[in-house]
Amino acid sequence: MLNENTNSYNIEFIRSQFPALNVRVWNKRLSYLDSAASMQKPKVVLDNIQENYSSSYSNVHRGLHYLSEKATESYENSRIKVANFINANENEIIFTSGATAAINLVAYSWGNQNLNKNDEIILTIAEHHANFVPWQYIAKSKGAKIKVVHYNPDEDFDLSKIKGLITNKTKLITFPHVSNVLGTVFPVKEICSLAKQVGAVTLVDGCQGAIHFKVDVKELGCDFYCFSGHKLYGPTGIGVLYGSINLTSAMPPFMCGGDMIDVVKINETTYADPPLRFEAGTPPIVQAIALGKAIDWVNEIGLENIEKHEKKVLSYGIDKLNSIKGVKIFGKNKNKAGVISFTMDCAHAHDIATIVDREGVAVRAGHHCAQPLLDAFNIVSTTRASVGAYSDFDDFDQLANALTKVKKIFGAL
Ligand code: PMP
Repeated sequence: MLNENTNSYNIEFIRSQFPALNVRVWNKRLSYLDSAASMQKPKVVLDNIQENYSSSYSNVHRGLHYLSEKATESYENSRIKVANFINANENEIIFTSGATAAINLVAYSWGNQNLNKNDEIILTIAEHHANFVPWQYIAKSKGAKIKVVHYNPDEDFDLSKIKGLITNKTKLITFPHVSNVLGTVFPVKEICSLAKQVGAVTLVDGCQGAIHFKVDVKELGCDFYCFSGHKLYGPTGIGVLYGSINLTSAMPPFMCGGDMIDVVKINETTYADPPLRFEAGTPPIVQAIALGKAIDWVNEIGLENIEKHEKKVLSYGIDKLNSIKGVKIFGKNKNKAGVISFTMDCAHAHDIATIVDREGVAVRAGHHCAQPLLDAFNIVSTTRASVGAYSDFDDFDQLANALTKVKKIFGAL
């Protein structure tokens, strides 16, 4: 999908593969700048879903007939694709319904088993609620303490902020790979190495990471890494938890039922090895297979090409927004990916999002499921523009024009 002659990124061709980008919004071109919330899907993924339900569908693992074996093979093949995508072993990939379910799995299974009174959990002020509330909940029930790492949103993450909080009571350090509000890219490898020095476990919320750049869990040295399929050009209802086999093989199940057992007797049950121990019930079969297809698609373009392209578009967007008087970018850190959050002197984020929508621009407005972060900086909401492989300069030109309209409506021009 790169131009054969120039080896350059063929944005027109890439865009042409996303049917949703042709939707006319209020009779205008769609500028889809809400990819951090969910990516649009390429046609190969949509076709794969249709094909799977039409000609290869059955329940997995238990059946001996043709269709069940075919579906099982595709489902397990997808696990291998995911494992290769992040350089994990196949038995370290647990399919969940999404990142939220993956984090809850770690909190309930590992957390309940390993956290005790006065143990310490370190997490950051930039956590999405999905990686904040489960830990708050488990910490309360176990009498563990949560320590929050604060940092300056306009600067790159300063490792010393986390260093200062680590003690020999630290049992878990968890943080986003990339903040969904500020775009801050966290120094995952360095944090994991600090955690190892005190024997603490690490969980990386990779929802906004694995979608923008190459992840190698072995190289990063994390114990857990999770992401959602729908943010990686795949369908909803499927997510991934990478869990180091050393940890998961000692962890109890989170949910119990079919498919996660070894032998069930009236008085006792033994459990399957990971990953199946953590995949009770009928899994999201077609979604998992389609996620494999989405990964094929990403691999074909090359995540490193997507990363380069997105960086260019993001930096164009930052310049464009900075050129509009009254727009304030929240998070001026340099090492950022995927998102630009901003406020405007003249209007509330919800008004901005509504007005720009009428100009065909899809952005997100509100607290972005990160209320502690916004509270810490004394703001209630921002408007967020976010990019994917298909985003282009026109998207930001359209946003900038729409923001001029916002200023006109609120008498700021
Ligand atoms: N963490 C981050 C950083 C996110 O951006 C999101 C989705 N907005 C989540 C967790 C939760 O993902 P999901 O809703 O797909 O489970």
